[in-house]
Parts: sequence; structure tokens; C-alpha cells
Amino acid sequence: MTILDGKNTALLIQDEIAQEVQTRIQAGKKKPHLAAILVGNDTPSQTYVNGKVEACKRVGFDSTLIHLDENISEENLLLEIQKLNENPQIDGFIVQLPLPKYINVDNVIKHIHPDKDVDGFHPENVGKMNKNQPCYISATPLGILKLLEKYEIQTSGKHCVVVGRSQIVGSPMSILMARNEKIGNCTVTLCHSKTPNLAEFTMQADILVVAIGIPNLITKDMVKEGAIVIDVGINRVEDATKKQGFRLVGDVDYTETAPKCSFITPVPGGVGPMTITALLYNTLLACKWHKD
Ligand code: NAD
Repeated sequence: MTILDGKNTALLIQDEIAQEVQTRIQAGKKKPHLAAILVGNDTPSQTYVNGKVEACKRVGFDSTLIHLDENISEENLLLEIQKLNENPQIDGFIVQLPLPKYINVDNVIKHIHPDKDVDGFHPENVGKMNKNQPCYISATPLGILKLLEKYEIQTSGKHCVVVGRSQIVGSPMSILMARNEKIGNCTVTLCHSKTPNLAEFTMQADILVVAIGIPNLITKDMVKEGAIVIDVGINRVEDATKKQGFRLVGDVDYTETAPKCSFITPVPGGVGPMTITALLYNTLLACKWHKD
């Protein structure tokens, strides 16, 4: 069994990005600049955004964090988005999700200029991804593709089962794994909350991608011997032995399942760092596509 080490792979790719930034600066080209809008004080969201800002520093990007009040109106949030759309210094930006319940997320995403939508959530980018045209691919699925690529995993002809159909992970993942690309060419099954007998499907997976948000839902008896398992889930479970009172676990029961797998991502240290790195990658693309 090989652990798919997202943490180290992310650092390797970040080093490549940092090198490219230095080359750009030496050539007198613009330094990539990522902005993030954070609404309210949700602790996990703050942690994720801080991680993104830190990663920007690591690769030599400029970054701007816009922290808005938790009661901001949708109208005022859209005004902030408009400012970023119009600011030539900003190459790409993200609106950290989840947003407060009274805000229409689809409407917010629709107002991000597709050229600056480095999270790849805008319908224009989603549509281009579906048609396999150049676009920003949603950061988590893109991070997973890059992880599979770095470990030289052969995906062609394999059966990939994706569990979870979210707009940001499961659905795009299912499309990407079926594309006629080096990491792709899988036969894909997409499972979700209404799938009866989930284990019947997961047991068939050569590559199993799980993005559900339920701790340890996938147990060892649901995974085929030798499977490649990508665990996207990040769940907090109470743990009195930890300083913060919780620990992070995935959607897959790692301890029991890992010995059966050929490759598996740990949580933390698997998909999470790759997601941040994919966002940096998209921001560099934004700078190259629209500023060079
Ligand atoms: P979501 O929370 O929007 O939706 C959950 C999905 O799981 C739904 O599509 C639902 O149909 C499916 N589901 C729920 N119960 C199920 C069941 N019993 N059987 C089969 N399917 C079931 O999904 P999301 O936003 O993709 O988040 C999923 C998990 O991934 C969460 O833990 C989230 O924190 C994590 N996540 C991690 C990263 C990362 O970078 N590692 C990025 C995004 C999300």
C-alpha cells in the first residue's frame, strides 16, 4: 500500500510554481495576485482562507484577504465582487464557501467574472470543463488529477466510482475522470445519497473517490482489494486528547481500509493541500492567460 502524500506533492508543485513566478519577475512580467472574500467568522472557513493566503506567500504571489461582516447584504457582497472584477491588479479571486444561508450562492458565483473565477465554479467554466476546453477546473478535482499524475497512476480503462455529487467536487470529478485525457478515460459511476446498496457500487471501484462529509462512512468491506482510494472528506470528530477538542477524519475508515488499498490518501495531508495548490495553479494560469 502506498500513501498518496498530498502534503509533499503539494509542496513540490508549489516549488515549481514559485520558480515560474521568479522567472516571470525576472522577465518584467506581472506577479500573480489572488484575492479571497471571507464572509463572517466560521472557524473552518477562516482556517481554509488563511491556508490559501499562506500558500500565496510561499510561492511569491501577492494576496488580498477581504473579510466582510457576517450580516453583509447580498447586494453589498456583489459590489465587493464587482470591485475585484474591475481591479486590474487582481488576477483571480474566490468567495470562500459556505456563505450565510440568506445569500444566494449561485447568484454570487454568476457575478464573478469567468476570467477571474479561479475556483472554477462559474457556469462558463463548468461548461467549458464539460466540453474539454481551456478553463479553470474546480480546485479540489484539479488537485486530485495532479496527485494521480504525480504518482503516475494509470487510469485508462479503469472503473472509477465517485461517491457524492456536489457541484464543487463529485460532479466535476465524474466528468473529468471520463474525459479522453492522460488522467481520465475511466468508466465512471456516480453515486449519491439516493443510491441504494452503495457498497455494491464501491466494491466495483478500481478508483474510488469519496466526497460525502460523513466520518468513516466507507468501511473496509465496501472497498475492493487493491483499489486506489481518494478520500475528499474533512470531518471534525470530538477528541478530548487533542488541544482543540477535535481531530480531522475523512469519509473513509482509514485504519481498517488502508491495508487493502494499492494507494490511499490520508486525512489530513491528502486532498486538502492539493486543493490549495490547484488554486495557486489556476491563479498563475489567470495571470498568464490575461496579463501576458
Ligand atoms: P456536499 O456536502 O455538498 O454534499 C455531500 C454529497 O454526499 C451529496 O452529493 C450527497 O448526495 C452525498 N451523500 C450524502 N450522504 C450519502 C450517503 N449516505 N451515501 C452516498 N452519498 C451520500 O459535498 P462536498 O462539498 O463535496 O463535501 C464533501 C466532503 O468533502 C465534506 O467533508 C467537505 O468538507 C469535504 N471537502 C474537502 C475538500 C478538500 O479540499 N479536501 C474540498 C471540498 C470539500
